[in-house]
Amino acid sequence: MHEVSVMSDIINAVLDQLGHYEIEKVEEIVLVVGELTFLGEEQLRFAFEILSKGTILEGAELIIETEKAILRCPACGFEGPPEHIGNGNFHFSIPILSCPKCGNRADIIKGKCCGVTSAKVVEK
Ligand SMILES: [Zn+2]
Repeated sequence: MHEVSVMSDIINAVLDQLGHYEIEKVEEIVLVVGELTFLGEEQLRFAFEILSKGTILEGAELIIETEKAILRCPACGFEGPPEHIGNGNFHFSIPILSCPKCGNRADIIKGKCCGVTSAKVVEK
């Protein structure tokens, strides 16, 4: 499960960062997940629950925000969200990574990263 290794890296990074402070516990952390990472929210929550055990992150509320993909086309200058394959009957749809205007291969400028943007902590 890809989510476990991603979450493991995230938790290590957060613990590393929070290690500089005197912290009693973490109340919540906000995780931004890019649409193009294809990470499952349920799997991330599950991985968080397991991996945070015994750390100051145990019991923290995990808030997951999705970052929508944004493409930029080097050919025509288009900048915006990709078109998707799929329909409303599915819980997911697949973004097409070519320019919706001219069909050229577009660069991904948003939606590929995954990381913690903020944390609410209780200091000692
Ligand atoms: Zn284009």
